[in-house]
Amino acid sequence: MSGGNSGRLRVEWTPGSDRLTGVCFCGAQRQADDPVEIWRWLLAHPDHYRQDPQAA
Ligand SMILES: [Zn+2]
Repeated sequence: MSGGNSGRLRVEWTPGSDRLTGVCFCGAQRQADDPVEIWRWLLAHPDHYRQDPQAA
């Protein structure tokens, strides 16, 4: 598990809060408190990019 093939998508937890931040390889970010929601959003890459005009 070295290499960067799976390093495009990241989910980061903010200490002191219940918020998780998902970061897509395209640079889009989303915050949610449910890791499942974050991952579904990340894996739906084209969708999230369209549905989030604020991510520009
Ligand atoms: Zn993306």
